[in-house]
Amino acid sequence: MSAPEPGGAASAARRFVLASANPDKAEEIRRILVGAGADIELVARPADVDDVAETGSTLEENARLKAAALAGAIGLPALADDTGLEVAVLGGAPGVRSARFSGEHATYDANVDKLLAELAAAGAAAPGQRRARFRTVALARWPGGAELLTEGVVDGTIASGRRGSGGFGYDPVFVPDEGDGRTFAEMSPEEKHELSHRGRAFRALHAALRRAPQPR
Ligand code: IMP
Repeated sequence: MSAPEPGGAASAARRFVLASANPDKAEEIRRILVGAGADIELVARPADVDDVAETGSTLEENARLKAAALAGAIGLPALADDTGLEVAVLGGAPGVRSARFSGEHATYDANVDKLLAELAAAGAAAPGQRRARFRTVALARWPGGAELLTEGVVDGTIASGRRGSGGFGYDPVFVPDEGDGRTFAEMSPEEKHELSHRGRAFRALHAALRRAPQPR
């Protein structure tokens, strides 16, 4: 596969391989970048590249592991996302373990069940006791090791039960503070991305890429 074109920051479409193996996240990243008018061509993660073990202890480390693995394997700069849901009364859990909260190959449903059960066990019934935030680290990494990293955060509360059928993961129980009381799963993708951790992180990454000279 060809190397990126040398040249100015925003002069030509830049090609990135998308390091995320999660199709829900990959679709969101595409839509967010298109919505931002990004001059970025996203190359799908080749199926024959092995999954990257998320062994880091922070979102940043895991995003770097995924991006470095794909940039190394493909020879193109890579975009990665690592996201965690941090619930205050649970001491910031599930955080970096959000995907594996209820076990190694957990389903979204099982993770939401565990989250609701832990909040009930903690006696956290009032919205003020169910404060949470989503945090996304978005990272661009070039085969030579150069990096750009941004973060996006959205504050909210965990609802008492599931509402809505859109989105994925913990969306049916996350109510963003800046919304109108609906969960992310009750919003259109555009409404979610306007407020979301991922929308914020990738719009910031796009702005940083436009400002940055072409790294290696
Ligand atoms: P990771 O970034 O792939 O490690 O994502 C961790 C987990 O967080 C995912 O498996 C989902 O359960 C959850 N997650 C990530 N992004 C979102 C989101 O935008 N909405 C709801 N849940 C999410």
